[in-house]
Parts: sequence; structure tokens; C-alpha cells
Amino acid sequence: MISETVLSWQRPLQSWQQLQASAIRDPAILLARLQLPMEWLPAARLAAEQFALRVPEPFLARIQPGDPNDPLLRQVLPLAIEMEQIPGFVADPVGDQAAMVEPGILQKYAGRVLLVATGACAVHCRYCFRRHFPYTQANASTAHWQTALTVIAADSSIKEVILSGGDPLSLSDDRLNELIQALLAIPHVQRLRLHTRLPVVIPQRITPALLNMLSHTRLQTIMVIHANHPNEIDATLRSALTSLRHSGVTLLNQSVLLRGINDDVATLVSLSEALFACGVLPYYLHQLDKVQGAAHFEVDADTARTLHAAVRDCLPGYLVPRLVKEIPGMAAKLPL
Ligand SMILES: *Cc1c(COP(=O)(O)O)cnc(C)c1O
Ligand code: SF4
Repeated sequence: MISETVLSWQRPLQSWQQLQASAIRDPAILLARLQLPMEWLPAARLAAEQFALRVPEPFLARIQPGDPNDPLLRQVLPLAIEMEQIPGFVADPVGDQAAMVEPGILQKYAGRVLLVATGACAVHCRYCFRRHFPYTQANASTAHWQTALTVIAADSSIKEVILSGGDPLSLSDDRLNELIQALLAIPHVQRLRLHTRLPVVIPQRITPALLNMLSHTRLQTIMVIHANHPNEIDATLRSALTSLRHSGVTLLNQSVLLRGINDDVATLVSLSEALFACGVLPYYLHQLDKVQGAAHFEVDADTARTLHAAVRDCLPGYLVPRLVKEIPGMAAKLPL
């Protein structure tokens, strides 16, 4: 049962759809709202032409105004440095184009497929490896879902379907339900996994209808959220995660190791502890994918290993995320 108190924070607020639709897209508004220098505007505008700015209000509320180094701001603010061409940083660093068996479906690893359920995201993360992904081709029309479902139904080795994107929770509950019902009809599918940053950036997305949908299914449901810094975890997110857990959803987190944001032991340790306090286990700490425009976030492999070893010395094993890197063509994500 979901108690009234758990959900009370949702009642007087805007709906998640309104919060998603009203996300800040204009760099001038972002700078003004956060009391940041307007000299940054021309560069921010240029960088946002390559990959649009998008910051929803609940995430903005966790950014400290006037602090140019705020770890949440750094994840979303378009910068001039993104436009520099750096050798080795390319449009499709993880080989998604090659792995796409049909539009919208990625089959790289045994037993599981990844479905690009939608191209849309509620937030735009500057380091995103999909920032140049051709979502309009890879997307998410009902026709593409049909093709993907046919592929899944024809291959009984597929035990787990991962909904990704974009962000699958940017779909409406109705659309999501359509997809889940179709997957339920495929007997060999046992697990449903959602890779989503939406609960973090708009916790109001965890609606009673969604909780109901996820708890009333024969599929084991896993949600992999995406938080990079402990400041992303506030009371609203904590309530949302608690209700997910009460609905029987297994909660995991993946982070990206990002220079200037979470590349220090204290931050990584406190992130793991803050996640577990909300019932979330740290799963992956990804080495940045070398996507064009994100070179300034890179932490080199040796530094990453040293950091990870130091984190391991501070925490119980179950709170240490696996440090991994994605190498195109490998059968799994590679431990560093
Ligand atoms: C990361 C990824 C997965 C999931 O890998 P796990 O190791 O099971 O978390 C599945 N498919 C694709 C295409 C991926 O990129
Ligand atoms: S939410 Fe995920 S897919 Fe969307 S921009 Fe951020 S990292 Fe990329």
C-alpha cells in the first residue's frame, strides 16, 4: 500500500508533464535565474545550438545560485569549450549505429536488448554520449516499437528488455503501459529494466499510476536511475524512491565519472551513502564515453582507477559501483 503521507508532496504541485514542458531552454533565463554572468551568454547560445539546453525546475532548485562551479550546474550549462574539436572524441563513441539491428533496438549483450523507447529527455546533460544520436531515425514511433517487439518475440534468448532512450519515463503512463503490456505478452521476457534520469530531475514523475503499473506485472522490474552527485538527492527524490521501493522495484544507480563534478573520493563516497539511504544500490560508475563536445569532462583511466580504489577503501563492497568502460564490440561493459 502506498500511504497518503508518502504521496502528499505531489498534491499541490505542478504535474510532471507541466514541469517537463516548462523546463528552461533559454540560456539567458538560466543565467539570470542563477545570478551568473551574462558574459557567458553568447558562448552558451552557440553551444546550445549543437545540443539544446534543457533544465527542469526541480533540478534547477538544487543548484546554488551564484556558484559557477556548482556540480549540478556544470552538468547542464552549455560552454564554449564544447565546440572545440578534440582528436578521439567522436559523434558515436559506443558504436550504437552498428549495434542497431532494427531502428530503435540495440542488441549488444547476451540475454538482453535495449529499446530506444523515445528520443526525448527531461534534462540535457552536456556529457551525454547520445548528444549526437539521430533520434529521429532511431525513434520511437509506434511502428518502430512493433518492429522491436517482433525482434524480441522471435528470440527466446532475450530474458530482459531495457527501456532506454532518451528517457523512457518521458513517455506518458498510457504509452508506457502499451509497451509493457506488449512485452508481457512475450513469455520469455522475464525482466523489465528502465534506464531513466527522470526520477532524479523531476521526482514528480513517480505518479501513483506509474507505481501501480510497475507493481502489477509478472515482470521483475529494475529501475536504474542516474545521479552523479549527492546534491542531486533531495527530500522529494527520497520520497519518490521510497514509493518505488514499496512497489517492489529494484533500484540501482549509474553515474558518469566527470571532471570537476564528482572526481574526488569524498563526493563519490557521499553519493553512494546518500543513494543507499534512499534504498538505491550503486551499480555502475562509467568512464566517460568519448563523445564530441565532452572532452573537458574526461578523467583519465589511471586517475579513475586510483579514485575507485580509494572509494573501495572507505565503503562496504555493496556500496562500491563497478568502474566500467564501454568498448564497441565487446560482450559486456569492461571493468577498468
Ligand atoms: C549498457 C547496455 C546494456 C546493459 O548492460 P548491463 O551490463 O546489463 O547493465 C544493454 N544493452 C546495451 C546496448 C547497453 O549499452
Ligand atoms: S538524461 Fe541520459 S540520455 Fe538524456 S541527456 Fe542526460 S545522460 Fe543523455
